Amino acid sequence: QWDFAERVGRVEPSATVAVGNKASALEEEGVDVVDLSVGEPDFPTPERIREAGRQAIADGHTGYTSSNGITELREAISTDLKAKNVPAEPDNVVVTPGAKQALFETVHALVDEGDEVILLDPAWVSYEAMVKLAGGDLTRVDLGEHEFELEPALDDLAAAMSDETALLLVNSPSNPTGAVFSDEALAGVRDLAVDHDVTVVADEIYDRITYDADPTSLASFDGMADRTVTVNGFSKSYAMTGWRLGYLAAPEPLVDQVSKIHSHSVTCAPNFVQRAGVEAIRSVESDVATMVKAFEQRRNLVVDLLEEHGKSIPRPEGAFYAMIPTAGDDMAWTDAAIEDAHVATVPGSAFNAPGYARISYAAGEERLKEGFERLAAEGLL
Ligand code: PLP
Repeated sequence: QWDFAERVGRVEPSATVAVGNKASALEEEGVDVVDLSVGEPDFPTPERIREAGRQAIADGHTGYTSSNGITELREAISTDLKAKNVPAEPDNVVVTPGAKQALFETVHALVDEGDEVILLDPAWVSYEAMVKLAGGDLTRVDLGEHEFELEPALDDLAAAMSDETALLLVNSPSNPTGAVFSDEALAGVRDLAVDHDVTVVADEIYDRITYDADPTSLASFDGMADRTVTVNGFSKSYAMTGWRLGYLAAPEPLVDQVSKIHSHSVTCAPNFVQRAGVEAIRSVESDVATMVKAFEQRRNLVVDLLEEHGKSIPRPEGAFYAMIPTAGDDMAWTDAAIEDAHVATVPGSAFNAPGYARISYAAGEERLKEGFERLAAEGLL
């Protein structure tokens, strides 16, 4: 009966959603599930931001805005980027409903059928789907053999990159590994990108959530401003997942093309949400610091708990994820984790990293301890 477009057949539903569905089904049966699968801070959105959103609605900011976003927010974003040495003017910024939409529009503006796109594995689930929907071909560089670091894998990246490469996606701090790529690694990316005239997407959505490392923006490296699309969002840093607010910053020719996709798909990000976003950028640094401190303690707890069970992992330096080796089929491991231990995790295969399970430690310390006890009791650690 249905004759679906070929492109939707190229992608699978999100693995994180599949795990979430299993967890919900168990919870409906009354089971207490420890959910370590969701990439979402367990903190409420800081009150100042919520108040700004309420005030914006009260003031009647409920209509469309200009497609690329209100000037005040694009100015605040531009100032924020300049503080990271990314030379982006307000006109270089497109405000989107979430960083995901910014990535989607970027990929669709740059990738044609058959174009080659490089991902650094383990890679966030949606990159692959976005590239496939656009008809691109994937080349993958595995960081798994290098403790998830990029610098020791630069030779592999050099071997993967050619003049045929249309796009390289770099995500640091990384979901799912928590790795923060060093300046040396990013300088290596720059050299390769310039040599092969490749555009790079820098997904820096976790750049405020770091512990031992201070990440540098890729677009701040010499020679990168003209070839980098910087993507960021409010979901993680400001605990604003449900508000749906993000952005991209790119050279103007690319902004012109992306804007076409943007205006014909979402029109604009929600008006009052954009105004709350201005407040987020301007005035909640101390709330962010409090959340990051809590994530750091949880990161330490997770590393310690794993060590207690004889598993040592590269210490995640940012974001709120860790990859646990599963010593066998990761799908079987995550199935047992949810079905027997009632702990929800995501199989590494979803990130093209079989043999691992991703946990999110954006959950409270007690829940983390409970989750690890249950996994250990089922012999999964
Ligand atoms: N990029 C990465 C690496 C992510 O982990 C996420 C969310 O999980 C996103 C982008 C998208 O975030 P949002 O669309 O909520 O801004």
